[in-house]
Amino acid sequence: MRSTVDELLTRLIDAGRTAVRTGLVIASGGNLSVRLPDDTIAVTARGTWLDRLEMDSFSILDPDGNVVDGNPTPSSEWKLHQRTYRVRPDVGSVIHLHPRTAVLLDAMGEQIRLMTLDHAHWVRSIGRVPYHPNGSDELADTSAEQSRTHNCVIQAHHGCSCIGGDIAMALRRAMSLEQAAVLTYQALVLGDRHTSFPRAALAGLGHA
Ligand SMILES: [Zn+2]
Repeated sequence: MRSTVDELLTRLIDAGRTAVRTGLVIASGGNLSVRLPDDTIAVTARGTWLDRLEMDSFSILDPDGNVVDGNPTPSSEWKLHQRTYRVRPDVGSVIHLHPRTAVLLDAMGEQIRLMTLDHAHWVRSIGRVPYHPNGSDELADTSAEQSRTHNCVIQAHHGCSCIGGDIAMALRRAMSLEQAAVLTYQALVLGDRHTSFPRAALAGLGHA
């Protein structure tokens, strides 16, 4: 059990490094979590830099959000993670990041378009919630509600949550979402407002 927990936390530390290295976020722009085998949740502690996570950078919460082990001060966004796991028992990881292009396009009222097979397969659909203050019940509850039907949810003027059965899938979705936003941005710069992955082909894809 301990070795499984250590392995999961090591993968989350890796995911944080990847998110910063690939330009998805800077510094402490987000928070990460994984569901542990005993149904507790490991979530990054408050103020942690995503490329400098260590084994003591995580708070362990029970399913109701009480800190039961690890770092005593979880991220101010812990409710966002806890509420999402509550509505999606199939989900093993929540990656909440502040990626600039996805947030910019949404703030401008532009829909992020799925352009490639990767976007269609991994992202599939994008939910969104209006702006709510950081750490609020409103942000956590509205995002969790959107997570019932979308694996990627944009939080206006703030960030996104991407979820998956495991850490790799959640991270892959976050990377694909931001790439879709970048391609949408580039299409807009070229004057294109309509190109997107064919709707008929999207309907024909199996479950990711
Ligand atoms: Zn955030």
